[in-house]
Amino acid sequence: AALSKKGDVDVKGGWKIGDPVPYAALAKTFSHIEATTKRLEKNAFLTSLLLLVIQRSAQGDFHSLLQVVYLCINRLSPDYIGLELGIGESLLIKAIGESTGRNATVVKADLKREGDLGLVAMGSKNSQKTLFKPKPLTVPVVFKNLRDIALTSGHASQAKKVSIITKLLAACQDFEAKYIIRSLEGKLRIGNAERSVLVAISHAAVIAESERSIKKWDEQKLASRLEEGSHIIKAIYSELPSYDQVIPSLLEYGINNLKEYCKLTPGIPLKPMLAKPTKAIGEVLDRFENKRFTCEYKYDGERAQVHKLEDGTVAVFSRNSEDMSKKYPDLVEQLPKCINDSTKSFVLDTEAVAIDRTTGKLMPFQELSRRKRKDVKVEDIQVRVCLFAFDLLYLNGKPLLQKSLQERRELLREHFTVVPGEFDFAKSSDSETTDEIQAFLEDSVRDGCEGLMVKMLDSDASFYEPSRRSVNWLKLKKDYLVGVGDSLDLVVVGGYYGKGKRTNVYGAFLLACYDSDSEEFQTICKIGTGFSEEVLQSHYETLKPLELVKVRGDVKVGGAKPDIWFEPKIVWEVLTADLSLSPVYTAAQGLVEDRGISLRFPRFIRIRDDKVANDATGPEQVAEMYERQSLAQKNGKSKKGCD
Ligand code: ATP
Repeated sequence: AALSKKGDVDVKGGWKIGDPVPYAALAKTFSHIEATTKRLEKNAFLTSLLLLVIQRSAQGDFHSLLQVVYLCINRLSPDYIGLELGIGESLLIKAIGESTGRNATVVKADLKREGDLGLVAMGSKNSQKTLFKPKPLTVPVVFKNLRDIALTSGHASQAKKVSIITKLLAACQDFEAKYIIRSLEGKLRIGNAERSVLVAISHAAVIAESERSIKKWDEQKLASRLEEGSHIIKAIYSELPSYDQVIPSLLEYGINNLKEYCKLTPGIPLKPMLAKPTKAIGEVLDRFENKRFTCEYKYDGERAQVHKLEDGTVAVFSRNSEDMSKKYPDLVEQLPKCINDSTKSFVLDTEAVAIDRTTGKLMPFQELSRRKRKDVKVEDIQVRVCLFAFDLLYLNGKPLLQKSLQERRELLREHFTVVPGEFDFAKSSDSETTDEIQAFLEDSVRDGCEGLMVKMLDSDASFYEPSRRSVNWLKLKKDYLVGVGDSLDLVVVGGYYGKGKRTNVYGAFLLACYDSDSEEFQTICKIGTGFSEEVLQSHYETLKPLELVKVRGDVKVGGAKPDIWFEPKIVWEVLTADLSLSPVYTAAQGLVEDRGISLRFPRFIRIRDDKVANDATGPEQVAEMYERQSLAQKNGKSKKGCD
């Protein structure tokens, strides 16, 4: 399918081998992708573009493919470098006005009507009469300008940004202004997740290889190589999430040799392994029947992936691969004390937990979240942190992901030393009976933890699985056990104005889960009880700047009718006593039944500022919770309630 579409994104005026990639080819591809909801078609459009890029790049040029890939995922560098787009609306309105000779008030009025600044920019451009056709934009030019904008800071930076954007817009034709503006806003909105981009990269590489091969591949061989290629690239990217490393190696050595050249590397954070929730010890025992497993304290802090390079550099990364070394200069300073002489380079998986250094008592996550995030000076730090290491993923030049947890744990204990109050190993118990697990769980709660993590201990089922929510890691939170229900991480997508005393703030909120396959937010419940006045005021201050004039196209609304829509950005942890089928909300629609699933009596627990919107609970997890609950209801009747 991808091959038959080939040429569709080719552009008039020719695009010859060695030429820079025309931006028009990318914009045309984006518009094709945006216009279809079918996964396979989206993949075919992107694959054909990437294939053209590979075929028309000069020998040794990897920048063309690299820049196209970055523009497709709307980033300019790997996550951990933190070079971000996301230019404010008013600046963009100013630039659109200046480059098209329109008044900012008129542009604003258009935005109110259209709800999409990209469309407004395209409309403004296309209705403008120009004497000369501008020189066509190329990918390297757009990429460089976007980088310059992201890097501009300090004195007069606003004016500099507006000036670059204005010039870029002046050169736009057809769909280009729409996607340049959306890129600048930080949301491309074409419904193409990063995972799909990875698959398209692998498909383009495989097809390019098949075309170079002297002996023609039959359809079966091509299909199996395509399938194999997408597995390879996904696995490699989760271990080494840097296109700067993966793309040049892919072009030079080919997809089948990639594993040899792209491995976990200290300094580049890998996507962490995640756990599945469980509700009862019985469930744990069923899952791990006849297998060796271990229980560890589930510390209530912030995940910290600690890297040490051969040259002595230490870096701390968050769950989302952000560089947190500036937030935790104390950890960077503390670390050398716990490293043995034989330990030259490593990657540790740990939880950073607030601790009272005088009593040695662990403090809850809320304490940790009081710490400043930027420009922290060690001497100003009030809330001290202890690192609890639970995994070792790389040691002295070698990745350990394919070793069993038992082996990784032995190496961890051998190569690091406990420093009380600063560094420790996650407390563990390899006991097997319900009573023993129950007692250990109670200990963990008494010691200020959230519950237990239960992990497969040996065999290949205990390999470290980057970026996967794996059944080989189960979490057993105390909240689940006391029967108060499930905890979900949900995105705030809408607000309802308050009544009575609360008219100056939002009194209730519309929440959504996130489907990473379809890249859409699915509404799940309205939450409005249990907030204090102070909390409502603080939510108002956080959410007010995120107000939108129109609901975003990637929110599957259903029958919910909030007074105001928000940019889906803020994640809240919410507890629910019960899940029910709902004709109003769209979460997990079609997974259990045609109707969606909703939360009954949702309760706000805390803001999850360590998570971004795409980390929110997914519809499959919502469906799983609903089904588990139905199973548990002895009478077997399904719930009909909804709000
Ligand atoms: P949660 O909302 O429960 O923190 P999460 O989505 O961040 O979950 P999960 O994989 O579901 O991640 O739960 C594991 C989290 O618990 C890890 O991300 C980590 O921050 C924390 N944690 C604390 N102690 C441990 C441990 N011993 N092993 C693994 N993770 C631990």
